[in-house]
Amino acid sequence: MNLIKLENINKQFENHKVLDNINVEFLPKNTTVLVGPSGAGKSTLLRSLNLLERPESGKYLINGLTINFGKVLTNKTILHIRRETGMVFQNYNLFPHLSVIDNLTEGPVQVLKQKKYDAENEALQLLTKVGLEEKAHFYPNALSGGQQQRVAIARSLAMHPSYILLDEPTSALDPESELGVLKILLQLSREGQSLIIITHNMEFAKAVADKIVFLEDGKILFDGDPKIFFNRPNGRITDFLSAMTFNSKQYEK
Ligand code: ADP
Ligand code: MG
Repeated sequence: MNLIKLENINKQFENHKVLDNINVEFLPKNTTVLVGPSGAGKSTLLRSLNLLERPESGKYLINGLTINFGKVLTNKTILHIRRETGMVFQNYNLFPHLSVIDNLTEGPVQVLKQKKYDAENEALQLLTKVGLEEKAHFYPNALSGGQQQRVAIARSLAMHPSYILLDEPTSALDPESELGVLKILLQLSREGQSLIIITHNMEFAKAVADKIVFLEDGKILFDGDPKIFFNRPNGRITDFLSAMTFNSKQYEK
C-alpha cells in the first residue's frame, strides 16, 4: 500500500534527542504540513524520510517496504527509498552547470533509464506546468529564486516519486515569488500529489493541509485536522500561532 508510516523513531545529535519516539503516518494523496518552532526537529524528520539523516532506531514503512533503522540498510533499499521520496530544499540545489531542461532530464535518463527524447518531452510539459517553458535553455543562475524553486519542483516531479518532501520551500523568497511557488504547490496538492511540507506560512498551511503535525523538542504535540489546530485547542498551540502571526491589533497606535 502507498503509505508512509514511522514507528518509534529516535535520533540524537550527541546528547541531544532531536527525534524522541516519533510515531506518525503520512497518507497517500494527502498533504501533510509540519510546523513547529525552530530547532523542533522538523528538518531532521523530513530528511530521515529521504535517508539524508539516519535515526538510530525505529521502523520506517513506505509503500509496502519496511526498514528498521537499527539495522544496516542495503544500497538497493536506499536507492528505492530515495526514488519514492523527492526532496525540494530551501535553496533549490539545482545543478548549476546544467540548463533548466537538463536539470529535469538528468535523473529520468540516468536513473530511470528513460529515453532522452521522452524525458525532454515530459520536462517541457512540467516546465509549462510551473510556468517556465520559455526558460528551458537558460542556466539556473539566470533565473530568479522563485523561478529556480519552480524548476526544482518540476525536477522533482520528473522523477515520479510517490511523495514530494519540501523543507521551507519559500523561506528564501520575496513575497511575490513566494506566492508563485505556493500556488503551484496548492495545485499539486489538489491534483492528489502526496506532499509533506515544512512551512512557517500559516495561511498557506491552512489552505493546503489535509493534516497538521506540530513538533516541539523532538516530540509530536499535535497530529490531526487543520481545522482543530487553527482553532487553538490548547495553550501551547495558541502561543505558537500567536508568535507566528503578526496581529496589528496588538500594536495599534
Ligand atoms: P527544525 O527544522 O525544526 O528547525 P532541525 O531538525 O533542523 O530543526 O534541528 C533539530 C535540532 O537538531 C536542533 O537543535 C539542531 O541544532 C540540531 N541539529 C540538526 N542537525 C544537526 C547536526 N548535523 N549536528 C548536530 N545537531 C544538529
Ligand atoms: Mg528546519
